[in-house]
Amino acid sequence: MKIHIADPTGLCFGVRRAISKLEEELARSEQVYSLGSPIHNPQETERLSRMGLVVVESAEDVPDGSVSFIRAHGITPVQAEALKKKCLKVVDGTCPFVKKAQKSAKDLSSEGYIVVISGDRAHPEVRGIMGYVDGEVAVISSDGVIPDNLKGRRCGILSQTTQKVAAFAALVSSFVKICTEIKVYNTICKATLARQDSVCRLASKVDGMIILGGRNSANTKKLAEISRDVGVSTLWIEHAGEINRGWLQNKYDIGIAAGGSTPDWLIKDLIQKLNMM
Ligand code: SF4
Repeated sequence: MKIHIADPTGLCFGVRRAISKLEEELARSEQVYSLGSPIHNPQETERLSRMGLVVVESAEDVPDGSVSFIRAHGITPVQAEALKKKCLKVVDGTCPFVKKAQKSAKDLSSEGYIVVISGDRAHPEVRGIMGYVDGEVAVISSDGVIPDNLKGRRCGILSQTTQKVAAFAALVSSFVKICTEIKVYNTICKATLARQDSVCRLASKVDGMIILGGRNSANTKKLAEISRDVGVSTLWIEHAGEINRGWLQNKYDIGIAAGGSTPDWLIKDLIQKLNMM
């Protein structure tokens, strides 16, 4: 069996930056509070929790005078303001590309466009971006179905940073057919594009692809979808312990790709386990 690693793969710039900011703060402060999980990887969140990270659901759960952390996916301006009022210190780990998407939404909204976000309404990044819109906003999921009330209106379109390029391009093209004025910001980040491309290239050359990453990670989910779309047998796991011998049978070339929130140590664990097998 030969192992091939997608290149690039694993931690993206934004998540690596957020983790290192958080680790620096955890070395100084006994506890650091994060609104929601700071990274969409349960194993890495658990490691950081052992260092003093406390994940809470709302700003109300953050004690007065504490230190808080804003995750790479960002939060709404209202939540950021609440943290600022309560905390001694707020460490901002928001990825600069997510900040760009937030600013695009704000600009489109102030120019009077209905802000259309291509993405998953339940995802924290999308909820954060929606918070920057001061007016009408619509979220269109991967099914690409455009609500009737947007037809013929002025729409400003942007994307969740981790969306598939082809799906975003198809959505924009659908808007061209139904609106007389649209403005588009391509807010899909380069790290996402590069990881999607590397999976696509590798998946077409191997007998099986292992996609490593949190089940709550949108970008990992996209990588698994892309790999399956290529037509190769695809196994999506969170950690090396989930690999099974049955799936490996009759596969000689195995590709590995990891989501942008999968830490290096989980990738190394997986390679080690496969080598042992
Ligand atoms: S996937 Fe892109 S936008 Fe999201 S955290 Fe990583 S670098 Fe930033």
